[in-house]
Amino acid sequence: MSSAPFENLNLMPIAGEWREGRHAQSLNVTNPYDGSTLLTIKQANRDDLDAAYRRAADAQREWAATGPAQRAAVMLRAAEIITARREEIIGWLVRESGSTRIKAEIEWNAARGITLEAASFPSRVHGRIVQSNIPGKENRIYREALGVVGVISPWNFPFHLTQRSLAPALALGNAVVVKPASDTPVTGGLLLARIFEEAGLPAGLLSVVAGPGAEIGDAFVEHAVPALISFTGSTPVGLNIGGLASGGKHLKHVALELGGNNPFVVLADADLDRVVNAAIMGKFLHQGQICMAINRIIVEDDLYDAFTERFVERAKSLKVGDPAQADTVIGPVVNQKQLASLTGKIAQAKNEGARLLLAGEIRGNLVPPHIFADVTPEMELSREEIFGPLVGIQRARDEEHALQLANDCEYGLSSAVFSRDTERAVRFARRVQAGMTHVNDMSVNDEPHVPFGGEKNSGLGRFNGDWAIEEFTTDHWVSVQHTPRDYPF
Ligand code: NAD
Repeated sequence: MSSAPFENLNLMPIAGEWREGRHAQSLNVTNPYDGSTLLTIKQANRDDLDAAYRRAADAQREWAATGPAQRAAVMLRAAEIITARREEIIGWLVRESGSTRIKAEIEWNAARGITLEAASFPSRVHGRIVQSNIPGKENRIYREALGVVGVISPWNFPFHLTQRSLAPALALGNAVVVKPASDTPVTGGLLLARIFEEAGLPAGLLSVVAGPGAEIGDAFVEHAVPALISFTGSTPVGLNIGGLASGGKHLKHVALELGGNNPFVVLADADLDRVVNAAIMGKFLHQGQICMAINRIIVEDDLYDAFTERFVERAKSLKVGDPAQADTVIGPVVNQKQLASLTGKIAQAKNEGARLLLAGEIRGNLVPPHIFADVTPEMELSREEIFGPLVGIQRARDEEHALQLANDCEYGLSSAVFSRDTERAVRFARRVQAGMTHVNDMSVNDEPHVPFGGEKNSGLGRFNGDWAIEEFTTDHWVSVQHTPRDYPF
């Protein structure tokens, strides 16, 4: 295993060859903290995309025919390389996506975890024999790779969110073409391609096409080759992709992991220390730019004032600044577009009459914690995904009101509820309309063997463990008529 840092990260693996893209426009990859240019990439155009998909389709047939041990070995070697190159990966996450070290370490660990989990997938795929009502017939159900998978990933956890589709898809015998987010082509694709190359993945099975959405976005989804589009990103873009994948010339499987508006519910009998610690972490990790981040804090009346005071005190003490410094908790938001969206939301919350409890000076892309109280369900802060270090606190009259507030939104990704009475909290949790609800913990949780995904407009499908095996394979019913069949005519 080489220990020198990966080189030529301005090149992409396209159809089995590391080269520049053929689009006229280059992409400048910048550091969100200081604006410096990290590298320049010549982007992919539609011909590059077409070449990548076609080569993937060819390479996939041979790969799917390999034994489980061979595919598992590639995953295990990839996990070893991820382990050995920990500092290099974390360094890129800090520089390219504005991750604090704390967040980059969490992300590195999550990506390593799903790679190890994926190593077990090849030996966990099982077909079935199902009895037949027809004399002499045998029903064999083969569980097979889908073919080629197109993966589109966002910039917030680029390394992990690409890998949680990429590793399972490859392990299960598929080929993959990745389209990383323009802010994070290195951590969202190119590092992983270098890692899999070093791990011995045959050429052509994995291509990365960083290119402008306007040129290759629709084509990436509508191309005839991919059987599944695995998209992680915002709800508006995901809805469009779902439509393209099912409403055009071809029908495709889709896995959609979209936005969230995650409620964090505090019932009056909760342990305040635990609540505040969880709320601080669940709101401010990665500057709040996490699909599972706390979006709305809903507190039952009796605990409202005490919670609000303690939460604001803790938030004031968080260090905002250079993400490379180990004790920084809040680094930069990723780009100007996100910054503009947050300043717009702060102004709107003030206009709508929310009570501002904590603010601070915004410098460059650094946004210190902003906290509003007395937020109502009609305000934008309650209705929209925030994706930043900004939060509104709502007052609930009682448990039923808290539940009503929690479910009053179009999303259903993650959620959390606190109570000293665990079974009361579990009863509450089961009535929350979401794919994931955590009792006495924050809303940000992800384990490689536990189903991850959302309800309502937060998505379709589940990642991780058995659920990923389900997503990245399909059933093929092959029946065998062993004896002559008695037809009616
Ligand atoms: P985004 O939807 O703007 O972009 C996501 C990806 O889609 C990027 O790679 C982007 O280049 C690509 N894209 C954009 N338009 C496209 C088009 N028309 N065709 C094809 N591809 C297109 O989201 P973002 O700003 O990168 O990420 C933040 C969003 O992602 C938030 O809403 C967040 O909640 C969501 N997210 C969800 C999960 C989850 O697991 N549910 C995880 C992380 C982020």
